[in-house]
Amino acid sequence: MATLEVSFLHNQLEDRKRRLEAAMVAAPRNSGLAGLLREVDSALDRMVKGSYGLCEECHEPVEQDRLLADPLVRYCLDHLTQTERADLQRDLDLASEVQRNLLPQNGLCAGDWETSYHYAPLGAVSGDYCDLIPSDGQLVFVLGDVSGKGVAASMLMTQLHALFRSLTKMALPLGQMVSQANRVLCESALAGQYATVVCGLAKPTGEVEIHNAGHWPAIVVGKGGVLRIESTGLPLGMFCEVEFSATRLQMEAGDTLFLYTDGLSEARNANDEYGVDRVTHLVRQQSARPPAELITACLEDLRSFEKGEARFDDLTLLAIRRVGS
Ligand SMILES: [Zn+2]
Repeated sequence: MATLEVSFLHNQLEDRKRRLEAAMVAAPRNSGLAGLLREVDSALDRMVKGSYGLCEECHEPVEQDRLLADPLVRYCLDHLTQTERADLQRDLDLASEVQRNLLPQNGLCAGDWETSYHYAPLGAVSGDYCDLIPSDGQLVFVLGDVSGKGVAASMLMTQLHALFRSLTKMALPLGQMVSQANRVLCESALAGQYATVVCGLAKPTGEVEIHNAGHWPAIVVGKGGVLRIESTGLPLGMFCEVEFSATRLQMEAGDTLFLYTDGLSEARNANDEYGVDRVTHLVRQQSARPPAELITACLEDLRSFEKGEARFDDLTLLAIRRVGS
């Protein structure tokens, strides 16, 4: 471990020791405090002996982020006690439930727009963000993918959710919303954490404005053929001062917009990658179907392509169709 981290953890432990000693003077009958003090003393002792931060079972280094979160951790993730495992599982289950509750209503309709999505985290929580926000007869839609996986990615995902939800309430032009979200993420995310995002506004007239910030191409299919809306900018959270430009298009009745994350486009079987061409082909083939059926068809095609290979990323699919005469 780097010297900086060791001295940070050492200070943390010393501080805890001081607080525990003071608390024990104030509440001498609290027997739990003595046990905690023994644990802190033992950690300080391991620091002196040079065994601090090594798993007591396998003697390999304990994950550094876990040590920084709790300097008393004594076992690596592979060698947690049963109680620790149960605690961790409870935390993850709760985080998963919190995240599920942030999802929009599936099958949501807003004016002439009907939608459907599929949201499947790889583990307990996902780094994908999927949202549908009806606003004054219009529909704001967002699909994003946060760098990394697991809990850290899911935390940035919840931040994106809060940002887009509150910015939509402010009724800003879409371009300003994207710039604001980018700025806040830049200021708050860890270096190296960013999000590719497709965000759009669908109006009752069929006019759609889309910003693709570093994400996979959005696909629009209909009577007019197929259109790929490529990224015109960098992912959100990378650079504070960056411009985002919009693509505007007119969607007619029966036209469908399809968005996805790399759980689809980068899915692999033994020989091949799924790829954007296959996504495009599939969406074109199934374009007459309503959103829910298109999503089902896409999942079936993905399953037959994967031939039982394990997935390695969060997967989100979103279809939006303009209905009407
Ligand atoms: Zn271990």
